[in-house]
Parts: sequence; structure tokens; C-alpha cells
Amino acid sequence: MKVPDRKGYFGEFGGKFIPETLSNALLELQEAYSKAKKSREFRKTLSYYLGDYAGRPTPLYFARKLSNKLKLKIYLKREDLLHTGAHKINNTLGQVILARYMGKKRIIAETGAGQHGVAAATAAALFGFKCEVYMGDVDLARQKMNVFRMRTLGAKVIPVASGSRTLKDACNEAIRDWVTNVKNSYYLLGSVVGPHPYPVIVRDFQSVIGRETKVQIIRKEGRLPDYLIACVGGGSNSIGMFHPFFYDKDVKFIGIEAAGLGLNKKHAATLLKGKKGVLHGSKSLILQDSFGQISLAHSIAAGLDYPGVGPEHAYYKSIGRAEYAAVSDKEAMSAFMSLSRVEGIIPALESSHALAYLGKLARKSPNALVVVCLSGRGDKDLEIVRRWAE
Ligand SMILES: *Cc1c(COP(=O)(O)O)cnc(C)c1O
Repeated sequence: MKVPDRKGYFGEFGGKFIPETLSNALLELQEAYSKAKKSREFRKTLSYYLGDYAGRPTPLYFARKLSNKLKLKIYLKREDLLHTGAHKINNTLGQVILARYMGKKRIIAETGAGQHGVAAATAAALFGFKCEVYMGDVDLARQKMNVFRMRTLGAKVIPVASGSRTLKDACNEAIRDWVTNVKNSYYLLGSVVGPHPYPVIVRDFQSVIGRETKVQIIRKEGRLPDYLIACVGGGSNSIGMFHPFFYDKDVKFIGIEAAGLGLNKKHAATLLKGKKGVLHGSKSLILQDSFGQISLAHSIAAGLDYPGVGPEHAYYKSIGRAEYAAVSDKEAMSAFMSLSRVEGIIPALESSHALAYLGKLARKSPNALVVVCLSGRGDKDLEIVRRWAE
């Protein structure tokens, strides 16, 4: 059973729901990617930049004090130590090198909180691409620092004033731009979402997380972990961690979503509360109201408030391969403080959601061997945390 199938379906999820005008562009991308994947030159280039530029392999750190405190054996996969502070650079380096391989001259991206925009602008600067990033003007006002970061890196940030003026509208504008400029432009998607082949491309570039983890945990523990835990926004750091362990049936996957203010409030977890539907070109689970309108997700962790989720996660859920749970803003905040105090590591608020689940896991499975994907560092979140504490 190999997913996705040739049409990009993970079970009933995924596929390509796109305007006719994009179908050639997606086919071109699919062909180029299949070729690039087999090219020694491409793989050598990517692996060089992941190592010397981004800082791979990242350590698998045994969190001894946190383990003692929670009565678990906890390892942290330190994606927070990468250049730009999170796993997103794994994907943007991969795709920008692919864009160069395809002979494109310009990168288009969309961003919500700005983290993918910054990672895209970074890779674009490194390879000399023109980079234009669409961003809802509500997000633009909220994320001034990231806007400045992107501009410093030479990217052009384009405000989007339509719809809810946030990520989903920025996606629509980016796709519109791509349709018009498809000849010279590469559309750089930030998570395992969108039409086929994007969920596969992003998953493959992020799978370096799980591949490294497997080698490292066997070296340190002589066996595979009982649990892998990662936070789920669009789903890329978690799929990157989970996918290489897919056939290791004794390794349980737990994806943690943001419940925002709590599961009974409106804007909550996509995999737990979403319904089947089509968003940004693929079929998956989506937060929507009783009229089928897309709801806005909400979380203190900006990277988790996307109303959709990658089709591979919807599939893992449907076949019972992964389990999903949700953690509230408050629980994530408490895990943020705890890791900072106990281990001297300030985690991203997104990653803090994964950490917050450890207490619950310890009650269910004491002494289990667990790897948590620490998807990013928390420097970017200090202002939010400071205001929360007031
Ligand atoms: C963007 C982001 C996420 C969420 O995105 P995924 O595609 O679900 O990984 C999680 N953690 C950090 C630090 C992020 O920047």
C-alpha cells in the first residue's frame, strides 16, 4: 500500500481540485520533481545546504530532567536549532533548489504569521531568486517583525485586502499570481497541503526529520520509540517525523492540534472537529460552519491556526495509524514555561502544544520512550508570552 496513488490520493483524501489553467503547471512540477529526486546532483546540492547552511543533522537530545519530572523517557528532536529557528527551512531549501533545477526565476509564496514567508525569503536570497510573498493585511499588521525580516532578506511583501484578510485569502492571491505567471514563477507552498504533488514534495523534504531520528534513537537506545509526538498545523513537521516510521507498527504517532481557547469554543482542532471538504486544491478535513463556509481557526500559536490540514493526516486518522488530540492555549503556555525552566530551552508556542501532551501521556503510559519534535524556538513568541502573563 503506497500512498498517495498516481492521482495523488491518500485513501479518499488529497487529489487535485484546481482550475484548468493550473493543470499543466502541476504536471510540469510533478515531472520535474520525479527527475530531481533521482538526480545525484540535486540530492548532493540539497544535502550540502541542509548541512552547512541550515545546520543538519539536528541533535536528538535526551531531556533528563523533564523525563524525571514526568516519569517518561523523553527525547527532543531539536529542529529549533536550525537556521531561521524552525523546521520550515528544510522545505524551502528543497523547493527553491527544485525551482532552480526547473529553470524558474521567481518565487511566489503565501504566509500567515510570516514564518513560512521568512523561510522562503531566506532560501530565495541564498539562490538569487526574486521573491514575492502574499500576506493578509490583518496578519501584516500583527506580524510587523516578520514583515521586516522578509523585506530585509530582499523579498517583496504584498498585502491582501480581500475576504478575511488572513492566510486563506493570501493563498488565493498567490495562486492567482501563479496562474498568470506560471512560465517563469515557482509557487512555494509551506506545508503538506494543496493539490498533488505538493503534499508529497513537502513531506519528502521534511522526512529528513524522521530519518535522522530513527538512526539517532537506535544509536542511543538500541530500539525504536514507543511514541512520536508532534504538533499539527498544516501538518509538515509531524508528517516529516512520522512518515519514515509508517511501517514500524509498534511506534505510535500522536499529532497535537491547537484547541485555542478550548475544544467547546468555536475555533478548534481541524482533525478532531473538521468535516470533509475541499480547500486550496485538495480534499481533506476542514473547519467549516453548518453552511460549509470555512471557519477561521484560532490559537496563540500563529503557525497552528490554519483551518485545513494535510490529506496524509486525514488518511492516517481514517485508518487509525495516528491518533490526534488537542491542547488549549493555557496548557501550551504552561508547557512553554516548564521546558524553559526545567531544560533551559525556550520552545515555539506551536511546539509547546506537543510538549503539553506529555503529562497526559505519562498517566496513560508511564516510563514510555517518547520522541517529541521540537519544531521551532520560542524567541519569536516572547512578546505574546509577556502579554499573556500580564
Ligand atoms: C509553521 C510551524 C508549525 C506548523 O506547521 P506544520 O506544517 O504543521 O509543521 C509548527 N511549528 C513551528 C515552529 C512552525 O513555525
